[in-house]
Amino acid sequence: MCRLCVALTGGIGSGKSSVAERFAHRGVTVIDADLISHALTATHGAAMPAIVAAFGAAARAPTGALDRAWMRERVFHDAGVRQELESILHPMIRAEMLRLAEQVPGPYSLLAIPLLFETGQQALVDRVLVVDLPEAMQIERVRRRDGLSDATIHAILASQVDRQRRLSGADDLIDNSGALDALDARVAELDGFYRTLAQVRR
Ligand code: ADP
Repeated sequence: MCRLCVALTGGIGSGKSSVAERFAHRGVTVIDADLISHALTATHGAAMPAIVAAFGAAARAPTGALDRAWMRERVFHDAGVRQELESILHPMIRAEMLRLAEQVPGPYSLLAIPLLFETGQQALVDRVLVVDLPEAMQIERVRRRDGLSDATIHAILASQVDRQRRLSGADDLIDNSGALDALDARVAELDGFYRTLAQVRR
């Protein structure tokens, strides 16, 4: 395990990617749970045999990757399917994140885990960094970025923990209700703090 593992989390559109990008520019290794999940379900992905065994060959697109539209449809209508898919993917994602964290050369690594609280993975990390903003602003940014309908955005928000739950689980906070430029200074400050923490723990 790396000397210090910091989880980066926040709701959809809160600014996680924008924050992660800034840490990466400062030389911090970012381990992204969504990217790992995508790789596991890509052509020849390590999760594909278990997914086909659980859901049948229809779960696999002609490319050999997960048929995402097919799966999304089923997950949307059936909580049992969602649970079964998660029971396959989540342990694999966790194992891969930890494997990568072992190899991180720097003093600490940032684990970008959007559904940290939803999947109860707080215990995996040393600190939890939450990106926060008012919900109305979050909805507006998602609308602008993804062009989703309000109904879809609200359904996604309802599937995630609420703002209070996130705030109460945060060790550190980034207020992203300001301009993008404001993120640079806050990320620099936190980067310095985590580097110091990692040294102290050595
Ligand atoms: P997440 O990764 O949490 O879903 P993003 O980093 O993609 O969120 O941010 C969501 C959208 O809002 C993106 O289009 C991003 O460029 C924009 N955005 C992020 N932070 C700000 C900000 N402080 N001001 C204006 N737009 C922002």
